[in-house]
Amino acid sequence: MAALTHGIHHVTAMAGDAQKNVDFYVGILGLRMLKKTINFDDPFTYHFYFGDHGGEPGTIMTFFPWSSRGMKGRQGAGQVTVTSFSVAKDALEYWIERLEANKITVAGPFERMGESVIAFDDFDGLSLEIIAAENDERSGLDNGDVPSAYSIKGFHSVTLLENNYQATAAVLNDRLGFREAGNEENRYRYISGDGSAGTIVDIIHQPNATRGIMGVGTVHHVAWRIADDDNQLVLRKNLVNAGFNVSPVMDRNYFHSIYFREPGGVLFEGATDPPGFTVDEPLETLGAHLKLPPWMEENREEIEKHLPQITMPGEGKNA
Ligand code: ZN
Repeated sequence: MAALTHGIHHVTAMAGDAQKNVDFYVGILGLRMLKKTINFDDPFTYHFYFGDHGGEPGTIMTFFPWSSRGMKGRQGAGQVTVTSFSVAKDALEYWIERLEANKITVAGPFERMGESVIAFDDFDGLSLEIIAAENDERSGLDNGDVPSAYSIKGFHSVTLLENNYQATAAVLNDRLGFREAGNEENRYRYISGDGSAGTIVDIIHQPNATRGIMGVGTVHHVAWRIADDDNQLVLRKNLVNAGFNVSPVMDRNYFHSIYFREPGGVLFEGATDPPGFTVDEPLETLGAHLKLPPWMEENREEIEKHLPQITMPGEGKNA
């Protein structure tokens, strides 16, 4: 049976202040603001999508900024505890300098499974890594002031912290089409497709790890790529038959989604590649205007009143 998922589609996390979130991911990491919209389940909260120029699945990091008053979370078991981006093999020095110039503490570089890794946190304490990937054919993002030769290419991998890795591994293997790709100490690697950057998930097995608490500075869920609606329905049926409690298909405007919790507690989403981010604005001006789903347009005035103003880094400059 052909695999129904193909690596990471997007990662969604909780942020504090909206402006600081934009400053970090657009201003420092050089991702593009792909879409400025709202949380469809909580319309007075933004939903920011950052990624490459066209919003390719595998590059998309999304946030719900809860404001600086948002409840702080705790990274721990049952969560995606690290999100890792991929860059060219000779780009790490550039990133160490750039992050440190922005007063961000960098750990590393250290070696992991044959690749060099640096680790740091965003302004809300969310754990991130940049990895000099061995096998990432994607071109860089080419946004902002990061030279394209050094720019982020998209995700390398996500790391899940689990009290019992076998149960989660079984879901990855049996339901989502991943396969084992080795381990290093208590880190177990799974890949889908050709195993290149963007198709990798690591599980850290730590039986006594404290459970995570969802809130600012934690990942809310990871979404896996699904080619289309038909494959999504097959995957949903398979999961339901295997006893998982799976949400109905939800229209997220830019993709269609199903959600279920894996046995270790991480919220998994299966998101379709189509229709993508140009469904409601042209490629050239993605992210420039607040976009609402059609069913919320009539409340635009009230929604806009409740959202904080944000400025894009480099706005007005010829970046
Ligand atoms: Zn999602």
